Amino acid sequence: MASMISIHPSVDNGVKPGAASFAGGTLVCKCRTNPVEVSIKGNCAHNHVCGCTKCWKPEGALFSLVAVVPRDNLKVTANAGKLKVVDSSAVIQRYACKDCGVHMYGRIENKGHPFYGFDFIHTELSKETGWAPPEFAAFVSSIIESGTKPDQMGAVRARLRELHLEPYDCLSPALMDAIATHTAKAKGVLQA
Ligand SMILES: [Zn+2]
Ligand SMILES: [Zn+2]
Repeated sequence: MASMISIHPSVDNGVKPGAASFAGGTLVCKCRTNPVEVSIKGNCAHNHVCGCTKCWKPEGALFSLVAVVPRDNLKVTANAGKLKVVDSSAVIQRYACKDCGVHMYGRIENKGHPFYGFDFIHTELSKETGWAPPEFAAFVSSIIESGTKPDQMGAVRARLRELHLEPYDCLSPALMDAIATHTAKAKGVLQA
């Protein structure tokens, strides 16, 4: 029986595998004329679905689809003048198209942040296929803050597991370890 829960349109029919030799693609906003274009060199990493309230997600989806790329691999190639930062006080500066509202990329300017050097992107904005597929679900409990009823969470987590997107209520263990390692090095607990 097909699940009635829509996690995200890119995964609802099953997670598609990526291509090992994928060279990158162009993210395009939803404007019919003069769309913002962002070119990405190479593949993304740590692709996942995210339940937080900050990530951009398409209409009707419970989760966003978000991955990282090295910031040097990202370049705004068309209509940069339409981009504006959604919330300048946020750790991640999310650049959205001011006409269609789509977030084109998120950037961390704090050099001390564990994820400094990586930009956050939504691979669904590109027509190219072969992006590294989502591997897990982050901040799952946070979808309650966007209106999901707490009693639906069991079904949501079951659907995520069915899609092989292990549900976590923060980030995945690998990313939480990376953050803690960064913090331990900064404190001198771990030698760099
Ligand atoms: Zn737009
Ligand atoms: Zn998020």
